[in-house]
Amino acid sequence: MRKMTRNSFDAIIIGAGSVGCPMAYFLSLKDLKVLVLDSEHSQGQGQNKAAIGGVRATHSDPAKISLCLQSIDLFKNWESKYGTDIGWKGGGYCYPVYREKDEKLLKDLLPVQKSYGLEIDWLPPDEIERLIPGINPDGIRGGTYAPGDGQVSPLLSSAAFWKESKKRGAEFRFDERVIGLIIKSSRIKGVKTNKGTYFSDVIVNAAGAGAREIGLMADIDIPVVPNSHEAGITSPVEQFLDPLVVDIRPGEEGKTDNFYFGQNDLGQIIFCYSPSEPFIGKSRLETSEFMPIVSRRLIELLPRLKNTLVRRVWRGLYPMTPDGIIILDQVREASGFYLAVGMCGQGFMLGPGVARNITSLIINGKPEIDQEAFNSLSFYRDFYSKRSETLK
Ligand SMILES: Cc1cc2nc3c(=O)[nH]c(=O)nc-3n(C[C@H](O)[C@H](O)[C@H](O)COP(=O)(O)OP(=O)(O)OC[C@H]3O[C@@H](n4cnc5c(N)ncnc54)[C@H](O)[C@@H]3O)c2cc1C
Repeated sequence: MRKMTRNSFDAIIIGAGSVGCPMAYFLSLKDLKVLVLDSEHSQGQGQNKAAIGGVRATHSDPAKISLCLQSIDLFKNWESKYGTDIGWKGGGYCYPVYREKDEKLLKDLLPVQKSYGLEIDWLPPDEIERLIPGINPDGIRGGTYAPGDGQVSPLLSSAAFWKESKKRGAEFRFDERVIGLIIKSSRIKGVKTNKGTYFSDVIVNAAGAGAREIGLMADIDIPVVPNSHEAGITSPVEQFLDPLVVDIRPGEEGKTDNFYFGQNDLGQIIFCYSPSEPFIGKSRLETSEFMPIVSRRLIELLPRLKNTLVRRVWRGLYPMTPDGIIILDQVREASGFYLAVGMCGQGFMLGPGVARNITSLIINGKPEIDQEAFNSLSFYRDFYSKRSETLK
């Protein structure tokens, strides 16, 4: 790609978040002149910092398994490569199981997960009790465990991607909102912000919960809506829990689907649940129902947490698609315009894998992962067809 004038770039990324930061890193590794624009004051300040930092390749969707395996490879080797601590804690993901139907569901997934390279197995009850010391043993049937999964700090890692990209010449402009796209003869040519105009033949929409607004600037309607979720974190306690734990049962209170938690590298317990009904909108005020529900579920599963001090709760936005699957594609109506959006509840763990594959699409015209799996993420798919994504 050619080098150009001061306001011209080889690639422009809209959004310096979970996807945009690693995207800047991978594109700048290819020696491209990269500009990243974000309306926030620094990198990672959108939904990136709302993530609890779980990174797993334990998925049911082949594309997500492959992308997350690539992400994990980068996260776990980052510190040895660049000497920067990003809060990586290996320890895997564990899905303890109490119901026959969940046992069947998770066991049925194992062959697919393994066929895409995921190291995962079914463990008997005593091994689950060893992995999660103090777990409620009543009725436990066993569970799955993927030892290669782990946790990373979203703030530390977005700062690390920012720093390494800048070293390679990437430019970041903060406090700058994209307000328009320049398209001529069905080709993308640039972006307008509240502060200026920038030109490029390659523009990546990585705007998270703002992705739909960016699409509308190109007259395309990207079906991404903000769906809010809450999380919380405790004071640190002595390390006792290696894996992140996901309980896929719905809550008895009738308002929650799965819930999950882990202990981060600093010893804090970090936790979340998925509400049964979507919570559409951009409000980020905490609700009064989150703590009573999640603490009951936590203490029922792991009674030893009952005296742990909760330090903070927060609410953030999942950029949701109708089928819960992400969108990675090139826009047919505006060539050179790429979509890396609709990350739902997994944009942090998917970020580096997504960035690697969009970079490959831009440079080589094809993704790194299996083309068929990648095609399933198309913007032009039927978002309302029934799709069997069993692990959300
Ligand atoms: C409570 C909670 C827990 C979560 N836990 C996890 C987890 O453990 N693991 C995981 O993988 N995911 C998790 N997620 C999901 C994850 O946070 C998101 O999927 C991810 O951050 C989305 O990444 P993104 O890059 O698409 O968006 P963002 O990180 O939000 O980045 C988009 C950026 O675009 C910018 N932007 C938007 N519009 C414009 C514009 N017009 N002009 C300029 N800039 C613009 C925004 O300011 C923002 O910085 C969690 C989410 C929540 C709410």
